[in-house]
Amino acid sequence: MSLAKSVYDASPRLLRILYTNAYGAGNVLRFRKWNRILDRLSYTETLPRREQIALVDKKLKAILAHAFDQVPFYGQFSALAQDFDTRSAFDILRELPITSKEFINRDPEAFLARNRRNVTISRTSGTTGTPFTIVMDKDAFLLGDALWWRRTRWAGYRRGDWIARLVGDPIVPLKETNPSKPWIISYPDRRIYLSTFHLNPDTAVRIGELLRRRRPRFLMGYPSSLEILSGYLKDTGFTMDWNLKNVLFSSEPMHPHREALIKEVFQAEIRGLYGSGEKLISAAQCPEGTYHLSLVDGFIEGQFGIMDPVEPAAVTTLVNTSMPLIRYQIGDMIQTSPEQVCPCGRTLPVMSPVVTKHEDWIITPSGRRIAPSAVVWAFIHQDIADIHKGQVVQEDADLVRVYLNTDEATFNRYREVLQTSMEKVFFQEMRVEMVRTDRIEVTKAGKSRFIMNRYHGSRNP
Ligand SMILES: [Zn+2]
Repeated sequence: MSLAKSVYDASPRLLRILYTNAYGAGNVLRFRKWNRILDRLSYTETLPRREQIALVDKKLKAILAHAFDQVPFYGQFSALAQDFDTRSAFDILRELPITSKEFINRDPEAFLARNRRNVTISRTSGTTGTPFTIVMDKDAFLLGDALWWRRTRWAGYRRGDWIARLVGDPIVPLKETNPSKPWIISYPDRRIYLSTFHLNPDTAVRIGELLRRRRPRFLMGYPSSLEILSGYLKDTGFTMDWNLKNVLFSSEPMHPHREALIKEVFQAEIRGLYGSGEKLISAAQCPEGTYHLSLVDGFIEGQFGIMDPVEPAAVTTLVNTSMPLIRYQIGDMIQTSPEQVCPCGRTLPVMSPVVTKHEDWIITPSGRRIAPSAVVWAFIHQDIADIHKGQVVQEDADLVRVYLNTDEATFNRYREVLQTSMEKVFFQEMRVEMVRTDRIEVTKAGKSRFIMNRYHGSRNP
């Protein structure tokens, strides 16, 4: 990733366009794979509850048996395997410890299966700022992507529809501060990549013109980026003269004030996707607006009314054998609603992400609003394995402090690379101070926020 990224940062626009279109050609193949997976799984969308429980029970038993046998940490529980014929998987699960990023980060090797192969490595920090590396089976990773794609299918996607993306795609180098084209168009897969990092009043005007010209059927993005773009477009008198099927969002909570502004500007319904960074579970909003869990990727305690819900939610993978996360707290609060029946006809379990996380923007002296996910992106795309927790705080008009909870040696190892990457994401407009700390401010909800804005706090509710 880092090599590709540095080539990318350095290469001229033409090369980046070629690279993006080549990737797009690969995407066409990926869509086919995802569609095949989704077609095969479509029967699970309307299974009666009893059969859903039996399906999850069977998958859980398989993953637990594998963990007892192959994963060092779970070897100590292998005697429980004798009970597979007489007890439910949920019953056995109750006897295993709850885990978390912090718990696993103490000895990650102990959580890797000895017989793992065909793996892919995925890094996440989530919104709590604790970096975490997960090793995934390639098949499990592909399934996760397919399930994320299902939300777009539910939203009425047809082959040939254009999708504009406003997520963390690094398509324009950060050294260009006000690019004339803050986007790249990929023709094979019909994607318009917009640069989340370069949103400002000027680029928003050009993005608005591009959208009116290209008329994508979907606009997807982080809620904060969509809100920033919508705000700028509204100020310039942008109007819609084509129909968007849906605005799609993920990665951050959609606060009601954001939703209202985005709907007003783009004149379309908004559909969310909830996916944990570890690709452990996912849920998509159906056309009725209900979040349906995917069922086949992970089991969340309480989802069928089975096991008591844990806060933050505890989830067990049903598919990833390389590093099977078991009773793993994903850091988010999730409300399951086992009794709720959705008028869309899908029987997939219903959940709602509880919006307890509120994150601020960082606002630079020139008025750029930098979305939290853009900052997270700069943070995790470094090799920072041993930092327990980080927090990025805007302290003054032009001052950001990055707090890292780690030991002296680790701090010294990463301080420079992180500082450079943070300065870039703020377009050299902010002074960035790196601070080593033993504690990170925790909010009332018991979680630390990754991004805080002490300076603009009151103006940025
Ligand atoms: Zn539904």
